[in-house]
Amino acid sequence: MENKKELRGWLDNYNLDHPLVIAGPCSAETEDQVLTIAHQLKNSDATVLRAGIWKPRTRPGNFEGVGALGLKWLQRAKEETGMKIATEVANPHHVELALNHGVDVLWIGARSTVSPFIVQDIADACKGIDNPVLIKNPINPDLSLWLGAVERFYTADVKNLGVIHRGFSTYQKTKYRNIPEWQIPIDLQNRFPDLPLILDPSHIAGRRDLIFDLSQTALDLNFDGLIVETHYDPDNAWSDAKQQIEPKTLIQYMKDLKIRKEVGDNEAYEKALSELRAQIDVIDHKLIDVLSNRMKISDEIGKVKAKQNVAILQSKRWNEILGKMILEGEEHGLSEEFILRIFKAIHQESINHQKKVARS
Ligand code: PEP
Ligand code: MN
Repeated sequence: MENKKELRGWLDNYNLDHPLVIAGPCSAETEDQVLTIAHQLKNSDATVLRAGIWKPRTRPGNFEGVGALGLKWLQRAKEETGMKIATEVANPHHVELALNHGVDVLWIGARSTVSPFIVQDIADACKGIDNPVLIKNPINPDLSLWLGAVERFYTADVKNLGVIHRGFSTYQKTKYRNIPEWQIPIDLQNRFPDLPLILDPSHIAGRRDLIFDLSQTALDLNFDGLIVETHYDPDNAWSDAKQQIEPKTLIQYMKDLKIRKEVGDNEAYEKALSELRAQIDVIDHKLIDVLSNRMKISDEIGKVKAKQNVAILQSKRWNEILGKMILEGEEHGLSEEFILRIFKAIHQESINHQKKVARS
């Protein structure tokens, strides 16, 4: 697949003066719930109503969605509010049912994108459709697998495409339910600048209080839209209760978020600069994270040494590390002087940490 302007044609058809906003509950629960949320979102920046009809659950026994019945509720919400409607499809039968019920936008869930067989089946069922298909990243941080799924749809003559960044699963517990790994969508954007890129802050965050900041980062990185889980009574939602926000909160967020408008020629420089700065900010946060993880391991080493009554400073080991890092730095275009300065500072901080542990 090459980068082609036609990929974003559908987005331009929405003719919005702000990023695309898709909002609605994680799952359709009842007709009343779908209609209430749709009416609360009507006339807001959200122009597409989302709701999961078939829910892929990690473990069986959780709410698995209301099934085809819910499509009628979405259809009614569309008639009453004029919003477009979107749902997840995970097999050819879902595609057929969704299209027969006037679903405008289909999305492919993260658990489907991991499987080329499933993606191919869904893509074949979508052959030639004009409806936009949005492909969530696979659960694992694999850009090729993600792009492979996009290509399968493109090859099946589905040209109105987009991707949704919903974060990546880790075994390690972090503050996020799925870590953002911003570098992956940034790489994707650099390779395919015309493929619409949408952020799903809800599934990255897993909790309400991170949604605003994640959305701002995405807008700073020039994402084309947001898909946000929205429920009138989030705490009592049947799925993903912790991460849903009320429609009125989303409406307020859309006022508070700084949305960079398209700019004229003389402002192109500002735009390019702020996008690059947003990328630097992402990497700086990552640096702090990496450094802090390194110091946590130093603390552990401090404990082990204290138990054995071993000296904190081990010069031989330290000289080995420095030598290796200088060589590796060279391969990456980093000067010896820079590597020495950085690693001396890291080493000093590590010794401080170990001393503190030894004394406690
Ligand atoms: C969802 O959007 O409700 C969903 C199940 O998302 P994901 O596929 O990203 O887990
Ligand atoms: Mn959900």
